[in-house]
Amino acid sequence: MRPMTSEEHFDAIIIGAGASGLGAAYTLAKYGFNVLVIERGERVGSKNVFGGRIYSHVFEKVIDGFNREAPIERWVRKERLTLMDDNDALTLELSVGNDEYRNSFTAYLSKFLRWLSKKAEENGAFILTGTKVDKVLIENNKVSGVLAGGDVFKADVVIDAEGVNPILARDLGFRDDWKPHEVAIGVKEVIKLPKEVIEDRLNLGDDEGVAQLFIGYPTKYLPGGGFLYTNKDSVTIGVVVRLEHAIRNRLPVYDIVEIFKRHPYVHSLLKGGSVIEYSAHLVPEVPMGNLDQLYGDGFLIVGDAAGFVLNTGIIIRGVDLAFWSGVLAAETVKKAHDEGKYTKEALSYYESLLRNSFIIKELQAYNKANAVLNNNTIYNNYVKSILGFVKDIYTVDDNVKKMLGTMLNSLHRNNLTLVTAMKDLITVLLNL
Ligand SMILES: Cc1cc2nc3c(=O)[nH]c(=O)nc-3n(C[C@H](O)[C@H](O)[C@H](O)COP(=O)(O)OP(=O)(O)OC[C@H]3O[C@@H](n4cnc5c(N)ncnc54)[C@H](O)[C@@H]3O)c2cc1C
Repeated sequence: MRPMTSEEHFDAIIIGAGASGLGAAYTLAKYGFNVLVIERGERVGSKNVFGGRIYSHVFEKVIDGFNREAPIERWVRKERLTLMDDNDALTLELSVGNDEYRNSFTAYLSKFLRWLSKKAEENGAFILTGTKVDKVLIENNKVSGVLAGGDVFKADVVIDAEGVNPILARDLGFRDDWKPHEVAIGVKEVIKLPKEVIEDRLNLGDDEGVAQLFIGYPTKYLPGGGFLYTNKDSVTIGVVVRLEHAIRNRLPVYDIVEIFKRHPYVHSLLKGGSVIEYSAHLVPEVPMGNLDQLYGDGFLIVGDAAGFVLNTGIIIRGVDLAFWSGVLAAETVKKAHDEGKYTKEALSYYESLLRNSFIIKELQAYNKANAVLNNNTIYNNYVKSILGFVKDIYTVDDNVKKMLGTMLNSLHRNNLTLVTAMKDLITVLLNL
């Protein structure tokens, strides 16, 4: 690691060593830029929270030898979606037979980020931990550096990768406070269990991983869901619920995972395990508004701070979007550097890169789905109807059960009709 002084002028300063900041740092340092990442956590990864699964596509594109070297716990080869009521569970499973299938993996985010930070350092980036950026500095109407730990650090450009609560971007007038309907609250635990027990209980092959999403009971039938991911010798389990619903329904967020773990289905998977980690964090729920508010003279915003998270209820993806937005910001800085100017206009290249990327395409596609998925009926009446229908069909008693009649009965028991169900199904299909 080379020595660094606060008098030094950097090509770029990055606030925060999450996936977005490290994506920018790795790429800029690879181009030979003099980059400083400032992270308030004592160690890289100590302040970052996520569920447990990372999609690998962007990392494979950017980092040579990624699949061999990265601290991957298990490649996900089983996807499960479970509908849950107070006692029962109905699971749909996709099991990929090909052992070579690699699309997403489970990981500890802290370990993963530490590995990523080493890769950025190998490229020449300087990472300063245990230091909080208190202020972004402006000179002649342009961002000129930051004030951190009492020192001034100057740079041509500052990349804001400070995560879901972008206080600094807000102070500069780039972002507004999140409203309760724009964020969800996520709570998770990591439970230690022996490797063989995990593989036996979750029906997994050696080192094979499962990603399981749950809807209904885990959120008390409110919009959101539960999740479970398998690491080598631990299981990550958690619940994400929209903040507006949590507030309105006085959901006991602090022990929501405990309640989820008490469900007979989950209890049988996790019994005997010990909790080794507990954390809670906000998750952005809606795209960020105007893209032209994500950059200004000498300033760019990436990752969660920009609202780049896809949370559809059955999938939660932020790490790959964060990393890629960091890479795009780095490409923008390189172009601005080549042109010799860091004006808002020069940095608007970031907007065009974003628009052409999967990030904005996916977020826009999800934008329509968002309204549909915010509907309580899906998580309550439909979950209970489908479970009720399948339970009735599998229960043998004196009654003869025809499919249609049994389905109508279950719908009626949950205040639905076949016509409303058909209409809702079409709406969901048209918007997802
Ligand atoms: C419960 C939960 C489950 C999730 N599950 C998944 C999942 O399974 N898969 C997935 O892909 N995504 C998941 N996500 C989303 C994902 O974790 C985030 O989208 C992603 O980690 C965001 O990365 P980031 O770099 O933008 O922000 P962060 O990881 O939050 O990094 C921001 C960094 O900036 C630092 N920082 C902040 N302010 C300052 C300051 N003033 N000075 C210095 N440093 C500062 C922080 O300490 C932090 O290290 C989940 C999120 C939650 C909450």
